[in-house]
Amino acid sequence: MKKLGIICSLIFAVLVAFYFLVLKPEKYVAVDVYEDIMQRGYIKVGISTDSKPFGFKNKEGQLVGYDVDLAKYIAQYLLKNPEKVVFVPVTPANRMIKASTGEVDIIIATMTITPQRQEVMGFSIPYDSAGQALLVKSNSEITSVGDLSGQNVGVIWGTTAEKNMLNLVPTANILGFKSYKDAYNALKNGKINAITSDDTILSGYALDDNEVKLLPKRYSREPYGIGFKKGKTTIKLKENLDFAIEDMKQKNIINRIHKTWLD
Ligand code: GLU
Repeated sequence: MKKLGIICSLIFAVLVAFYFLVLKPEKYVAVDVYEDIMQRGYIKVGISTDSKPFGFKNKEGQLVGYDVDLAKYIAQYLLKNPEKVVFVPVTPANRMIKASTGEVDIIIATMTITPQRQEVMGFSIPYDSAGQALLVKSNSEITSVGDLSGQNVGVIWGTTAEKNMLNLVPTANILGFKSYKDAYNALKNGKINAITSDDTILSGYALDDNEVKLLPKRYSREPYGIGFKKGKTTIKLKENLDFAIEDMKQKNIINRIHKTWLD
């Protein structure tokens, strides 16, 4: 009987050791994203690199823009140092997956808060907003979405405009592009007749190039939020981001960033 007791205790000890040493249960405990950032000492921010004036490379090859400035302020709020940011390039098509796998902690990339996205992602309170618009050649006869039936219309994969276009003009030929630059080149060489996306991004093309123009009508309201993984692990992160945005709004900081890049 005594022997059996010893054997049972030994088996139990081996199982406990196996559980902790081999299976490493701590590996499966969800890490709080805010605590993780604080421990790591820097924040990984998903950013667009071809969305002037939000995230783009200047002539010197540096990543600059509205969202870049905002990310630095967020690092200042969270880590007391605006330089503690590692920027990770994202596109509208891959940014949600990068947030859910932890490749980035947050996404600051002209990302619209929508009810569909909120089902799978967390968002801060809005920091700015845009509207869906059309960019066409200056000599184009297109004046609104009403003229797009049968026309080739460029969208950027994964954007809200891609989804909206299907409802707005189901009879248009919608062509998807990976980047704004690719869509712009297609417009210039006549492959497409219009690009539809956020006015805040498209207006830059019209300012830099008088062969293209931004049409005045808007087809949506696009509140921009900071995106992150949805769930319990980002509750603290959301509280901190919302506090930072609210404070920046009150102190006129967001307004100043907006004026620097958009006015
Ligand atoms: N605001 C739009 C969206 O979230 C466009 C964003 C973008 O082009 O990055 O889909």
